[in-house]
Amino acid sequence: MTLYAEVAVHCPFPTWQTFTYRVPPDMEVRPGCLVYVPFGPRVLQGVVMEVGVPPYPDAKEIQSLVGDGPLILAHQLALARWLSRRYLTPLFQCLATMMPPGSQQRPLTYFVALGDGPADALSSRQRQVWEYVRARGRAETEEMKKALRMPQAGAVAASLVRKGLLACRYELARPRARPHLVPHVRLLVPAHEARQRAGLRLAGLIDLLAERGPLPLVEACSLLKLKRRHLRPLLEGGVIALEEVPVPRDPLAEIKAPPTAPPTLTSHQAEAAQAIAKALRSGRGGTFLLHGVTGSGKTEVYLAAIEEALRLGKGAIVLVPEISLTPQTVMRFAGRFPGQVTVFHSGLSLGEQFDVWHAVRKGERRVVIGTRSAIFLPMEALGLVVMDEEHEWAYKQQEPPPRYHARLVAQELCRLTSSVLVLGSATPAIESYHGARTGVYHLLRLPHRLHPDGRGGAVVASLPQVEVVDMRRELQEGNRGIFSRRLKEAMAEALEAGEQVILFLNRRGAASFVECFACGHVPACPGCQVAYVFHRVEGRLICHHCNRSRRIPPRCLACGENALRPVGIGTQRVEEEVGQIFPGVRTLRWDRDVTRHWTAHQRLLEAFIKGEAQVLVGTQMLAKGLDLPRVTVTGVVLADIGLYAPDFRSSERAFQVLEQVAGRAGRGPRGGRVIVQTYRPTHPALQALVHHDYEALYRQEMALRQTLRYPPFGELVRITVSHPNPREAAALATSLTSRLRQKALGRPIDVLGPAPAYPLRLRGRYRWHITIKGEDPNSVLTDLPPSRWWTVDVDPVGGA
Ligand SMILES: [Zn+2]
Ligand SMILES: [Zn+2]
Repeated sequence: MTLYAEVAVHCPFPTWQTFTYRVPPDMEVRPGCLVYVPFGPRVLQGVVMEVGVPPYPDAKEIQSLVGDGPLILAHQLALARWLSRRYLTPLFQCLATMMPPGSQQRPLTYFVALGDGPADALSSRQRQVWEYVRARGRAETEEMKKALRMPQAGAVAASLVRKGLLACRYELARPRARPHLVPHVRLLVPAHEARQRAGLRLAGLIDLLAERGPLPLVEACSLLKLKRRHLRPLLEGGVIALEEVPVPRDPLAEIKAPPTAPPTLTSHQAEAAQAIAKALRSGRGGTFLLHGVTGSGKTEVYLAAIEEALRLGKGAIVLVPEISLTPQTVMRFAGRFPGQVTVFHSGLSLGEQFDVWHAVRKGERRVVIGTRSAIFLPMEALGLVVMDEEHEWAYKQQEPPPRYHARLVAQELCRLTSSVLVLGSATPAIESYHGARTGVYHLLRLPHRLHPDGRGGAVVASLPQVEVVDMRRELQEGNRGIFSRRLKEAMAEALEAGEQVILFLNRRGAASFVECFACGHVPACPGCQVAYVFHRVEGRLICHHCNRSRRIPPRCLACGENALRPVGIGTQRVEEEVGQIFPGVRTLRWDRDVTRHWTAHQRLLEAFIKGEAQVLVGTQMLAKGLDLPRVTVTGVVLADIGLYAPDFRSSERAFQVLEQVAGRAGRGPRGGRVIVQTYRPTHPALQALVHHDYEALYRQEMALRQTLRYPPFGELVRITVSHPNPREAAALATSLTSRLRQKALGRPIDVLGPAPAYPLRLRGRYRWHITIKGEDPNSVLTDLPPSRWWTVDVDPVGGA
């Protein structure tokens, strides 16, 4: 009986469809297998979703099978289908997140030259393309487009194919990653025989191989001080052989983590750990929100949970928000579970990622610590997923699609595998806390900050004291600098005492809004309650949700002063100002521009911890879980910047990042204080910060979101329309908006916009946003075809 299989194909164009293929009788195809399938004139990669589907009359046959079994696990196939529906992304693209890194093969189109020369007159473009291909013999379309700077080069080449001057060939790009092969020396005959046949010089080699088995050639030669040519007689005599052996690239090879034993847990930690362990043992899964103040020892709870999972024979995935967090965290995990831990993040080489993927697939590593994409690793018998700092925006994927949120993916993955999900945060996302308050999640609390007591245990410590400084006052009293007198004094005292200072600058939303420097008023859209975005070129204020716009008023609408200014300060400016006020004091600057590679973070941090600088100036990266015991003063240079990012989550985000930054201060015995500079001292998020009162922020935000139907009271989808031609872009956005508005009629859904994106022009394209808000906004998008002119972002995070 002929079998048919459903295959998700790596098409050159976006499609929602999967395709039916015939399974050749001698091929053992199972769901999750990677295959090559004919597709039109091409052969493409595909993933088998299901075997035994109803026959399809014109189905073609699967051409070949890759490897000897499924590459993608059964629960991952289900996860991919969910991803595709939830994030409106073609199925193969969702599966690609789960394939070994670098194994995807792009379909390429080549053109080859035929015959000698043009038979009839060619247009100048045709001639250009013809000459380009003829000079090279063959040319790939995308390369040709770039080289000739001719976006239509593909179509022009196709016209030459019709004239019989060129021919078209299809190939797949080579996989970008493969196993790392190292030549090894191996004995081919029994040791005693080999010893007889080897001379005196090589006897040592035979002994070594007999004792230790195959060895890397380089290692064997250097151990015995041999040259490669010395081995030739034995190789030619068939005594030994050289063979290529795959050697895994281990990203943790360099990290030496001394083994550690678990400490005694505090009563709160123990309670939390026991609740999680109980859920693990039940095998029924469940989601926990671990709400613990900064420095409350959440990691020990995670470690206890992992220990229990491993004891039950289950694996664990630990997600962390940023690569900067990994080195310190990894040491801790690797020390607790020697030989079982690996890491996965974009800072690794492709080869390392490839090998980590395989190590997890083979079950050689049962604990993975990684950034968001680690959620897609093929962990069999998964038991536990931990998401540290679950509120972080870094958990949202932006490019390429699927534009998923790792929290939602983790939730679905745990549901599919009956695993336990632990979300940890000092400042949970409003949606997560809502989940915990309504009983969807189990809430666990760690209410106390802990300090090491020097004997391996911990003592309860107080949270840092937060002061808010009113910058309007500073201005009135003649201080036009970026530092208040209060902050300058505090810095001077700390530096005098040989302590360290952190200066934090939020980069989110910098220079995108205007604020009154006399009263702190920020003009905001009355309909959406988000700050207007300042468009410098037009000199206008525009709402990036609904496109309401207005001219910048000549005077502040709140106080009447002529003091509305765009807001923005860079880290470099802060660094310079420190140099002017405190000559001779060494400053380090830590932001994404300065540090690209993940080990660079570690070096910079170590330099600061060693005291090579007294002041550290940084952006969001400072908020990560660092331990800096000599820091006693933390200055927030201008809190307002984050507060008015064009995003309904801006207050929540600003509070989260400030609470994290504040948590950096006073981790040592000397305690610490936090000085927050602002033009808006009464802002609810800042008031919540002063009192370390997350609940206050939660209540405030929930009230606002309920009125405006923002999450968790509704969902948001953002469509970005983009086109190289400004008029086309606007027209396309307008027609798509009215089409969606039609579909939304009679449903509890608003379609807002189109509104210009910020910046309007990016990478040569003009961009417009359409925002769909309400109950199940995906429902108006069901028959929206995939297109190169728009992208869909379900539950977008960050500014417009
Ligand atoms: Zn004002
Ligand atoms: Zn608006």
